[in-house]
Amino acid sequence: MAVVYIGLGSNLADPRAQVEQGIGELAALDGARLLACSALYASAPVGPSGQPDYVNAVVALESRRSPADLLAALQGIERRHGRRRDGARWGPRTLDLDILLYGRLETVVPGLVLPHPQIRHRAFVLVPLADIAPLDLPVPGQGVLGELLRACPMQGVARLADAPATLGVRPASPLSCC
Ligand code: ADP
Ligand code: MG
Repeated sequence: MAVVYIGLGSNLADPRAQVEQGIGELAALDGARLLACSALYASAPVGPSGQPDYVNAVVALESRRSPADLLAALQGIERRHGRRRDGARWGPRTLDLDILLYGRLETVVPGLVLPHPQIRHRAFVLVPLADIAPLDLPVPGQGVLGELLRACPMQGVARLADAPATLGVRPASPLSCC
């Protein structure tokens, strides 16, 4: 059993609804239990210019699935949201689900790098993560969450809405475990 943090992002086809539905699908995943959900944030796009703004959130799950099996499940949800992987890297997408952290696991295998290597560069990940995780959360190989937040430029991320209300989790209660 591991506490897993998953980042959600969308900038196509009603991004807020994509993210809210994605959170609901993560909450309903077999072998996983939703522990916490961040607020929703609007963020300026990274990568190719001219894309719409993103909606982002982070959830914490307790997972009984292996990392590879969880990633396969996330990619299944992405596909159901019409995600296509034939565009430019970091191009627009209906729903992106990234495993940010899988407990304290550090691994690099084909198709899966943990922790997600871009965490420390992405305010749109760090800010929602800090809604639901303690500032001393270790991000193996990168630092602890509080340090990463202080070092990352914060511009371009704005709170958009509270966590979806129907989830039955409190939005602003950082987890003490990791
Ligand atoms: P990105 O999320 O970097 O914008 P994609 O969602 O298109 O890009 O993912 C590209 C590839 O990243 C996927 O095929 C997936 O196998 C791989 N990947 C590696 N590590 C992770 C991770 N921790 N979470 C999600 N995908 C990952
Ligand atoms: Mg991704």
